[in-house]
Amino acid sequence: MTVPGSDSAPVEEMGGEADNQVDLHLHSTFSDGTFSAEEVVRRAHAAGLRVISLTDHDSSSGFRPAEAVGQELGVEVIPGAELSAKVDEVDVHILAYFIDPDHDELNVCFETYRNARRERAERMVRKLNRMGKRVSMEQVLAKAGEGAIGRPHVADVMLEEGFVFSTNEAFHKYIGYGKPAYEEKYAMPPAEAIRVIHDAGGLASLAHPKLYSRDDLIPGLAKDGLDAIEVCHIRHGASDVRRYKALAEEHRLLMTGGSDCHGDGRGESIIGTVKVPSEFVVALREAADNRN
Ligand code: AMP
Ligand code: ZN
Ligand code: FE
Ligand code: FE
Repeated sequence: MTVPGSDSAPVEEMGGEADNQVDLHLHSTFSDGTFSAEEVVRRAHAAGLRVISLTDHDSSSGFRPAEAVGQELGVEVIPGAELSAKVDEVDVHILAYFIDPDHDELNVCFETYRNARRERAERMVRKLNRMGKRVSMEQVLAKAGEGAIGRPHVADVMLEEGFVFSTNEAFHKYIGYGKPAYEEKYAMPPAEAIRVIHDAGGLASLAHPKLYSRDDLIPGLAKDGLDAIEVCHIRHGASDVRRYKALAEEHRLLMTGGSDCHGDGRGESIIGTVKVPSEFVVALREAADNRN
C-alpha cells in the first residue's frame, strides 16, 4: 500500500532524519480514536517512536494516563489537543502542543465544545430518524464512552444497524459535509482558539492544511497568532510537504507533523507511518519554553 505521507523525500530535504521517531497527531478513546490513551503509547513504542502527542478532539484527558505509560516505556508524551475553529465558513482544526492539561480556562473551553458536540449528535440522530434510519442517542453515547462525541461514533451505530456497509459510506451518504443528516459543529473563531491555547501555555498549529484547499487562509491565521503548520500528515504527499514547508518559512511559522491515527477500529493503525523530523520537536520546545 502506498501511504502518501510516508514519502520521505521532502523530509530528508529539510535536513531532518527520516527516522520515524516522532508522531504529533494521534487520537484515543477520549475522542474518536479506538485505542485507549495507554494503548496509543504502547503502539507508539512498538513502532519505535520516541516522542508523541495525544491530540484528541476537545480533550486533554488522555495526557496523564499516556504520560504514565510513556515514562515506563521511554516515550515522551507532549500534552496536546485538537480544537475546531471556524473562519470564512471553513471548519479548520487547530492543534495545541505543550498546553497545561489542567489549565482552568482551557478545560472550560473543552467542556463547552464537548457539550456542543453532544447537542449536535442529538440533532443528527433526529435527522436520521426522520429519514427512517432508526438510531438512538443511547447507542451513540455507548460508542463514544467517555470520549468527545464525533461523527465517527454516529457512523459506528449506522454500521452496526446495517444502514451502511462502511464508515465512509455513512459520511458519503448521510453525515459528511453538506449531506442530509449533517449538522454544523460549534467552533470559535481561530483568534479566540489560539488565545486560549496561548493562555494555557501552549503553541497552536494548523492541522492538515491540505484538507481545506484554502491556503489563502494561512496569512490571516498567522496574523491571529498561529505558531505552526502541520507540514507532514497522512494526507499530504511529497509536493504538499514542500508547499507547506515553504509557506511556513514565508510566514515565519514552525512546523509540526503526525499521522492523525484514529486507531484500528475503522481502518488500520497508522501510528508512526508519517515521517516527521525530530528537529520539529526541538524548535517547538524552544518556542514553548520562550513563551512560558
Ligand atoms: P467531527 O469532529 O464530529 O466533525 O468528525 C470529524 C472526524 O470524522 C474526523 O476527525 C475524522 O476522524 C472523521 N472523518 C471525517 N470524514 C470522514 C470520512 N469520509 N470517512 C471516515 N471518517 C471521516
Ligand atoms: Zn477525528
Ligand atoms: Fe482534524
Ligand atoms: Fe485529528
